[in-house]
Amino acid sequence: MSDCFILLSAGKSKRFKSKFNKQFITFKNKPLFEHSLKTALDSKLFKKIIIVTNKKIKKFNHKKIEIIKGGTERYNSAKNALDYLKNKKIKNVFIHDAARPNLSIKLLKKLKNELKNNNAVVPYIKSENSVKYKTKFKINNLNRDKVLLTQTPQCFDFKELFNLYRTNREKITDEASLYLINNKKIKFILGDKKNIKITTIDDFNYLKLENYYGIGFDVHRLIKNKKLFLGGVEIPYHSGLKGHSDGDVILHAIIDGLLGAMRKSDIGTLFPSNSNKFKNIRSKNMLTPVLKLLNDNNFSINNIDINLICENPKVYKIRNKIIKSLSTLLSINKNLINLKGKTVEKLGIIGKEQAIACEVICSLSK
Ligand code: ZN
Repeated sequence: MSDCFILLSAGKSKRFKSKFNKQFITFKNKPLFEHSLKTALDSKLFKKIIIVTNKKIKKFNHKKIEIIKGGTERYNSAKNALDYLKNKKIKNVFIHDAARPNLSIKLLKKLKNELKNNNAVVPYIKSENSVKYKTKFKINNLNRDKVLLTQTPQCFDFKELFNLYRTNREKITDEASLYLINNKKIKFILGDKKNIKITTIDDFNYLKLENYYGIGFDVHRLIKNKKLFLGGVEIPYHSGLKGHSDGDVILHAIIDGLLGAMRKSDIGTLFPSNSNKFKNIRSKNMLTPVLKLLNDNNFSINNIDINLICENPKVYKIRNKIIKSLSTLLSINKNLINLKGKTVEKLGIIGKEQAIACEVICSLSK
């Protein structure tokens, strides 16, 4: 038997004043719904992950992930997913709103653990505000200690939830309400304050990000009879950069900048120059373990600013080509990368066109 994670991304975002549906708004370099998708995958708790959506989204090349069509309301979407799972031998379902991108693996594990002894487990947080409620003639106090603000994922024994949905005729806002209408027992557990729901544009501002900055610098000597690589792309020039690798000063400085912001030492530690394994390596291949570190530690790139210091080649002529290459290699939008050219008044070995240097600042958020 096994569990399934249902990610509801079909909502119409009525309270969200934007042209786009909030689930697809870019947050930390990816659509909002992909954050909980990643958490669900990383948790390794699920046999299947179902994305329920009314929008055409990219195919995920992953055997666990399936995409199905949503309904007009939340409960129609959840029901579509349950119907789809009917004969798939699912033990438990975790139903999650895509508008909660800060889901943690810790919360998923806590919920999973409680499902051993309960058919329904729902996370909640306490109200920090005093609570009142309206009746026809007056406003009344409500003891806030008795208020549970429910979150998702809400987790259920598949069969029981399926049967409740099958016979239900009411409009429900979440599965917990369905259980309560039917007088079924729910185990409420303390959720996670950070697992907030994005309802309005302003909510994005509440999701405080931790920002980190890293600096990178590199210089290589120019030599004849070598190809010139800058930012992962070959630049037509009479000389190339001498080095253990292809000498790509831009990529080396970026790698150091990214490692710096992640506080993961430096490029020399990752790729020792006395190791023959890395001899003549193309620098773009050196990015792979660095991007894996970024992804594994949930960092995303805010922006990268680059100074390329040389008399020639002229930076304005190669700027677009380099930015395009970096954007592809780093999987980030071109407008997050800036490349400036700097000459040095013919001073020193850079001024004599015997070397090229590069300095970089990377900003990351976590
Ligand atoms: Zn280098």
